[in-house]
Amino acid sequence: MSEEQGHAGQANGEAKSAAAPRTLLPGRTTIGVLGGGQLGRMMALAGSAMGYRFVALDPAPDAPCGQVSPQITAAYNDQGAARELAQRADVITYEFENVDAGVAALLTEESYVPQGSALLYTTQHRLREKAAIEAAGVPVAPYRKVGSLAELIAAAAGLGLPCVLKTATGGYDGKGQAVIRQPEELEAAFRQVAPGAAEGAEAPELVLEKFVKFQCEISVIAARSTSGEVKSFPPAENIHVNNILHLSIVPARVSEEILQRACELAERLIAGLDAVGLLAVEMFVTEDGEIFVNELAPRPHNSGHYTMDACATSQFEQHIRAVCNLPLGDTRLLTPVVMVNVLGQHLDGVIERTGQADEAAYKLGVVPKLHIYGKSESKTGRKMGHINLLCKDTGDGLSWVEQTNLWRN
Ligand code: AMP
Repeated sequence: MSEEQGHAGQANGEAKSAAAPRTLLPGRTTIGVLGGGQLGRMMALAGSAMGYRFVALDPAPDAPCGQVSPQITAAYNDQGAARELAQRADVITYEFENVDAGVAALLTEESYVPQGSALLYTTQHRLREKAAIEAAGVPVAPYRKVGSLAELIAAAAGLGLPCVLKTATGGYDGKGQAVIRQPEELEAAFRQVAPGAAEGAEAPELVLEKFVKFQCEISVIAARSTSGEVKSFPPAENIHVNNILHLSIVPARVSEEILQRACELAERLIAGLDAVGLLAVEMFVTEDGEIFVNELAPRPHNSGHYTMDACATSQFEQHIRAVCNLPLGDTRLLTPVVMVNVLGQHLDGVIERTGQADEAAYKLGVVPKLHIYGKSESKTGRKMGHINLLCKDTGDGLSWVEQTNLWRN
């Protein structure tokens, strides 16, 4: 997205959402969702239970959300399809952050988008995102903007190694980034993250971050309604395998003081950013109890799936409440929980196990709650579903994951 387009969308979004906070009641409201993946599906399932209607826009004919709500099948940047979504819905939300700037501008102009597009513009670019986090008074790991190999060498000298080099846009799940431990690795990292730039092609914008020796990674999902009410869910401790979320453990295994501070930071951020809807805040916790925010996502998040079975309100219901300006739901944790993701390579084993009496679960006192997203094609590394393991102690949920032998690869 160009800066000009982004600012246009931002101005429109802010004007509309600031001018017209509306309360949209169940039974008479259709919610349009940009994106029909699993997040849209779980949003539609939660919102349908509350009495809302949905319509999704997605390019895949049999998208997960389209299986549970009407769907417009078209490319995300198809302005005609976006216009149809605007006509069929009373309010628009999205399930992913890389919304095309032209479509964002059109929707904020022709429909009601309480979330606006300012936060999309911010979170689509790591440097803008870090500046916005710092402006809200929340710490990020030390970083420098980098545009060339010479700048990278200077930035590494300033920050000190080890560092992580990342593209400012487009990277996800660890793609578009390289860890640099020794000065000799600087040039190779630059070539990897900015292919062609060392040979004279224009370098994409990059960011060099100090490598944080974290004790654990946690995330907090915060919600803010159109009228400004803010609540956050209990922090999840997240464990990644091959840069994909594998487990979320709740309560996170950190001190009460850190749990509380993490929630305060997320709430300060969502209010400071003037965001509406959900904001997922990923953080690093160091051995000395420091917290640095790593990344934001202005939408429901994989690390908040545990709320579906373990909290008084799920993140999906909370999102609907926030954008429709209902009072936010109770975010209390009802039981310890471990969420384990089901990727393509785990799906057959999980489904087979579901058809049998689960002795391990019974012995451990663990209640597995299965969620499958209905994707037609299963691939290694693709998120196909998740299981929320309700337990007396998160150690029991982790033992169940071990004992099943299903997550060895
Ligand atoms: P990201 O794409 O920024 O979410 O990064 C993916 C993963 O890389 C994170 O979940 C961390 O495990 C790791 N990582 C990213 N940035 C840093 C950093 N500055 N220090 C240490 N680890 C990092």
